[in-house]
Amino acid sequence: MNPALLLLLAGLGAQPSPKPRLVCVITVDQLRPDYLDRYREQLNGGLALLLKRGASFTDAYQDHAVTETAPGHSTILSGRWPAHTGIIRNTAGVPDSTAPLVGSPGPGASPVRFRGTALFDWLQAAEPGARALSVSGKDRGAILPLGRAKAQVYWYSYGAFTTSHYYADSLPTWLQTFNAQRVPFKAAGKAWTLLLPERAYHEPDSVSYENSGHDFTFPHRLPTDSNRAALAFLATPGMDSLTLALALEGMRALQLGGRGATDLLAVSLSGTDYIGHAYGPDSREMHDQVIRLDRSLGWFLQQLFVRYGSGNVDVVLTADHGITPFPERSRALGHPGAQRVVPDSVIRGVNAALDARVGGADWFGFESGMLLLPDRSKLAALGVDVDSVVTAVAARLGALPGVTRVDRPGDLARADTTAAVVRRWVHSLPSDASVELVVTLQPYCIWSYPNLAIATHGQPNDFDAHVPLVFWGPGFRRGVYPGRVNTVDIAPTLARLLGLTPSEPLDGRVLTEAIASQD
Ligand SMILES: [Zn+2]
Repeated sequence: MNPALLLLLAGLGAQPSPKPRLVCVITVDQLRPDYLDRYREQLNGGLALLLKRGASFTDAYQDHAVTETAPGHSTILSGRWPAHTGIIRNTAGVPDSTAPLVGSPGPGASPVRFRGTALFDWLQAAEPGARALSVSGKDRGAILPLGRAKAQVYWYSYGAFTTSHYYADSLPTWLQTFNAQRVPFKAAGKAWTLLLPERAYHEPDSVSYENSGHDFTFPHRLPTDSNRAALAFLATPGMDSLTLALALEGMRALQLGGRGATDLLAVSLSGTDYIGHAYGPDSREMHDQVIRLDRSLGWFLQQLFVRYGSGNVDVVLTADHGITPFPERSRALGHPGAQRVVPDSVIRGVNAALDARVGGADWFGFESGMLLLPDRSKLAALGVDVDSVVTAVAARLGALPGVTRVDRPGDLARADTTAAVVRRWVHSLPSDASVELVVTLQPYCIWSYPNLAIATHGQPNDFDAHVPLVFWGPGFRRGVYPGRVNTVDIAPTLARLLGLTPSEPLDGRVLTEAIASQD
């Protein structure tokens, strides 16, 4: 481990206060837990510290079916499945045209679809002055960990961090000053190079299916046009160090942890996700990203310890989902059925047939493995036997190569919920979700669109659902915990640690095995 970090830990053994001054929850978008084993020898920063000194759960899951960013982030500090948070897929996650961004043309966003409460609401109920800051490269990554709370919530859009009018009508001075440094614009023309000597990377760099066949070897140079560079900046390791720098700046400006009570800092780091989609989980790019993330997190934690004392901060590290390997790679490794499954033509076909019969173009939608019918009663009122149409679509979807099962949501509740796939779908679907069918793919297959060749996630398989979960700090008992746990356990565990009472029934449990005894 970084010697400076060790010294700091040793030197700052100040008496811990009964409750931490700060709880810092770090979500690394798309971080698969096997990366931590794979690159363990080369980790010496924040990831190394958390793994070595923290309470590390090696069998943790986002235990729902639609393993996307929005549903994943909705579970982490709510303690509830997407079936109960109401955030079941990205496209019906935070987009909100009535909440435009402040000073940015990016899409409007808010948590209006989020149901119920989250940890920060419980903290505020106990401590009316409690403060929270949440930052991310993505709107959903910043918004959903705080539920519906109107706190300080900022995300990246076109080269700067902003918020939406749901939260505020202007940006605070400290954020304007931060944005005025224009770090992403100044990265124009700069190259992403390997951090370690080339011999430290064992995976091949010239893999021609990566990044849609373009620019798949190091170094990766950002566009020389500064506006284009600011867009491309999202898919570089610099995005995470910038987000962490923003978190520190906001923490100082808002004086988090300065009231003698606990405040909350939520950080969602998006770089791993953008890099993983483009280059895949087994790429040299992912390897370098994880090493760089480790170093950035080491620097970040060091700053937290300097400010608060290491005895006054509790840290959680987890992820919103994992990722399935490129099908091209899986086929080469002996999984001949690995493929991209594109359901578009089936859905277009059924919509065209209905259009010819009763008019209306887009009755059915298909997203994230779900057949959606927003207006079932209207279609039925036009004399269509909806059930028989759905049965016919189920047969056509079931016949697509790569599909392993098609279920009606109503049948799942009666099925064997010890089967991971069934249980994960049940955890994903609210009863009022307008979902007619759920479709599960065979191992190593991924959903796709015509002419799209990225790696992706979003299914109820372990590649996508298995995530890291580490608690670090005076409240936790260091060790490796092999028992099976879920991300919905994070909020109840933190609530117990902070002496808070959740305002509603939760799906998770308190991970008492990892909580240090209070006597
Ligand atoms: Zn994500």
